[in-house]
Amino acid sequence: MSDTIFSRIISKEIPADIIHEDEFCVAFRDANPQAPVHFLVVPRKPVPRLQDLTPEDAPLIGHIHMVIVKLAQQEEIAGAYRVVVNSGAEAGQSVFHLHFHVLGGRPFAWPPG
Ligand code: 5GP
Repeated sequence: MSDTIFSRIISKEIPADIIHEDEFCVAFRDANPQAPVHFLVVPRKPVPRLQDLTPEDAPLIGHIHMVIVKLAQQEEIAGAYRVVVNSGAEAGQSVFHLHFHVLGGRPFAWPPG
């Protein structure tokens, strides 16, 4: 697995505005926010894309979603927010370490771009 900017944030080699960390994942604010609240939840395990998950990762993904629920409350967006995973370059993925975007604080259109 190649080193990405997110593995360097997880290892604290480079700084980020970290809002949560535990044994399995780290959450930090996006450097280029697309909404008033925009943070990323990233597993410590360096899975490149959503599509690279295996059945053994199911508890990890469940855990990440419960972290999202907690952080949405903490960030005061629990009433309405969007969770996005871009899996693959053509879907908009630019960092190949799985991450869940959590966006809130404004209305969102559908379909997405
Ligand atoms: P993707 O395009 O892969 O779905 O999302 C990558 C996200 O990571 C982008 O929203 C981008 O702004 C964010 N990002 C890229 N580099 C950094 C960084 O060094 N620090 C932080 N906090 N966010 C980053």
